[in-house]
Amino acid sequence: MKILAISAHPDDIELFCAGTLAKFKKQGHSIAMAILCNGNKGHFEIGPEELASIRKKEAEESAKILDAQLFIGLFPDLELHVNQQAVEKVMDVIREVDPDVIITHSPDDYMMDHVNAGKIAIDASFCATLPNYKTKIDKVTKLVPVFFMDTASGVNFQPTEYVDITEEMPIKEKMLLCHQSQYKWLKEHDKIDYVEFMKALSAFRGTQCGVKYAEGFRQHLVWGRIKPYRILP
Ligand SMILES: [Zn+2]
Repeated sequence: MKILAISAHPDDIELFCAGTLAKFKKQGHSIAMAILCNGNKGHFEIGPEELASIRKKEAEESAKILDAQLFIGLFPDLELHVNQQAVEKVMDVIREVDPDVIITHSPDDYMMDHVNAGKIAIDASFCATLPNYKTKIDKVTKLVPVFFMDTASGVNFQPTEYVDITEEMPIKEKMLLCHQSQYKWLKEHDKIDYVEFMKALSAFRGTQCGVKYAEGFRQHLVWGRIKPYRILP
């Protein structure tokens, strides 16, 4: 299978679903990561253009660990809105990747880029199946299952499916640490060690399902996207 994770920012995938992606990868599936925003507003001291280029390099380092196809920075931070232009840009990503499963943000997440990325991912993946909806990439994809990944620190999110990522934790941590600009910034500015932040959520989800570390998901249950078997590893 081909797994496509669609997130808002560089580091969201690492925080909420990289363990599951690593597990999919270990089972022989291929991974694509689409980071819709360029991360240009995630710092108070480094300017937007320099920051976007730093964060692109960091995301590339992280994607390389899973040998993942990477799309990044289709929009500046906080300029990701649910409209036709955004849907069409993401349709082209989906048409290029032709995924079997999509993982994206939950509608209940804490900020607009996350919520909008999730909404756009669902709309674009539907539109990409329609031959009469023409975009740059002349290809029609299938309607595939969508899973919502955890929210920031798990607030307002009760998973219905869990993936044991105990063995994948070193990979998840290594991927997250590729995002050094954010790691340092959050530590200095917000006093958050976001490796600890990530581990706390993974340990909490692990406690809920009886393993050391886990990631939690909810499936987007709508007609046409449901399968009669488990998809997550
Ligand atoms: Zn984010």
